[in-house]
Amino acid sequence: MSNQPAQPRDAAAKPARERVVIIGSGFGGLFAARKLAHTGVDVTIIAKTSHHLFQPLLYQVATGVLSQGEIAPATREILRGQKNARVMLGDVTQIDVEAKTVTSQSPVGEAVTSYDTLVVAAGAGQSYFGNDHFSEFAPGMKSIDDALELRGRIFGAFEMAEVLQDPEEIQQWLTFVVVGAGPTGVEMAGQIAELAHSTLKRDFRRIDPTKARVLLLDAAPAVLPPFGEKLGKKAQAQLERMGVEVQLDVKVVNVDEEAVDVIDPDGSPRRIQTRTKVWAAGVQASPLGQQLAEQTGAETDRAGRVMVEEDCTLPGHPEIFVIGDMMSLKRYPGVAQVAMQQGKYAAKTITHRIKHPGGEKLPAFEYFDKGSMATVSRFHAVAKINDRIQLSGFFAWLAWLGVHIVYLIGFKNRVTTLLHWTVTFIGRGRSERAVTDQQVVARMALHREKLATEAEQAQTAENGAA
Ligand SMILES: Cc1cc2nc3c(=O)[nH]c(=O)nc-3n(C[C@H](O)[C@H](O)[C@H](O)COP(=O)(O)OP(=O)(O)OC[C@H]3O[C@@H](n4cnc5c(N)ncnc54)[C@H](O)[C@@H]3O)c2cc1C
Repeated sequence: MSNQPAQPRDAAAKPARERVVIIGSGFGGLFAARKLAHTGVDVTIIAKTSHHLFQPLLYQVATGVLSQGEIAPATREILRGQKNARVMLGDVTQIDVEAKTVTSQSPVGEAVTSYDTLVVAAGAGQSYFGNDHFSEFAPGMKSIDDALELRGRIFGAFEMAEVLQDPEEIQQWLTFVVVGAGPTGVEMAGQIAELAHSTLKRDFRRIDPTKARVLLLDAAPAVLPPFGEKLGKKAQAQLERMGVEVQLDVKVVNVDEEAVDVIDPDGSPRRIQTRTKVWAAGVQASPLGQQLAEQTGAETDRAGRVMVEEDCTLPGHPEIFVIGDMMSLKRYPGVAQVAMQQGKYAAKTITHRIKHPGGEKLPAFEYFDKGSMATVSRFHAVAKINDRIQLSGFFAWLAWLGVHIVYLIGFKNRVTTLLHWTVTFIGRGRSERAVTDQQVVARMALHREKLATEAEQAQTAENGAA
């Protein structure tokens, strides 16, 4: 990493064309960039991954249904036909609202990019509610790295059980705990149960995978709370038919290598012996939100989301849009549709301002809710279109299938995804069971290296202060 002081690469005279910088290549960032095609602006999209990630299907990568490429096409491939868009790899560490610059880090050093208009769509990460040490033993599900690590841990657990002798140890490896009964937790628990009870049923000689326990825990009293009581109960009943043990009102108080400690509804502690845990509870907005709030006086909520104006900009800063999972507005949910619609709205506002300088503002952003869906198992999903139209079972699953295919980016990804779904849903097989050492071991090594570097830096700072 270069230690040279970075210069804005475009710090010279302001160019004639409006420079729009977008942070993030997720749903918000990508939809904003695409909507700015064929307009008179220059778009730079800066993201810390080189792909656009379709997060709703991450759980299928983790459980061997899909490959990572199918849900994460390269951003520059998606935008290759859009001549006014440039894609840049970089982890944004600093936004300077006064200087109108964005500083990003990449393996080759630091870059400073100037903007006229900024769209911040850096999303949210996992929250462990102040217990970040849980993450070592209970990975979340936010990135391709998370999904591949979980794939390694899930399939690896059956392999470990097969070579062990001690029945208690075998059962510990064959116990899977998913924390959080929202859509991701429900989908993960359902998929692990299907793996154990059907896909892997005949693959082992010493263990019986159907004896695996899958537990879904939540501190709340219901499954899928945003879907309402009726659909939540239907999803819970379907999970229980598949053998998932749903435990509600149960608070997780500790996670270590061998177990999860919980407090039951009656207040008594319990230790669940398990080697494989999945964390699907809680989100924390990108720290860039806090940075923006400090510089502009905007407020943030408990999850670090920035409270934006009705046009998705920051108070007193019409040139900065904050959209998607990292903003807070009218209690809109953290879902892909909000991010996409806000991305398009920000782009429309930018072009409107250029065409009508000093003219009337566009109407405030209004989210059009198209409904929510979650799959529970093969051929079973729940879908809440609105308070009147609520579906569960096979037709909801068909609707889920259609919607996800439509929103997957790229024709070739749609074709290969359909092929893999056929293998899984008709044949019950999984095409993506390969696991490399790197997925499980190297990530931990990187994590430890990061901790060691941080400790070293802290020590150096302490010595310097002494
Ligand atoms: C497992 C899972 C399942 C989900 N299922 C559904 C579902 O079924 N339906 C639904 O509607 N929603 C679902 N969601 C939520 C949905 O994916 C999000 O609401 C949506 O992705 C938000 O879009 P976004 O653009 O705000 O953020 P994201 O899509 O998260 O994109 C954030 C982008 O910012 C980049 N970034 C972050 N920090 C930096 C930085 N410092 N510097 C540079 N780049 C940065 C990231 O690399 C990424 O490109 C799910 C989410 C998850 C995690």
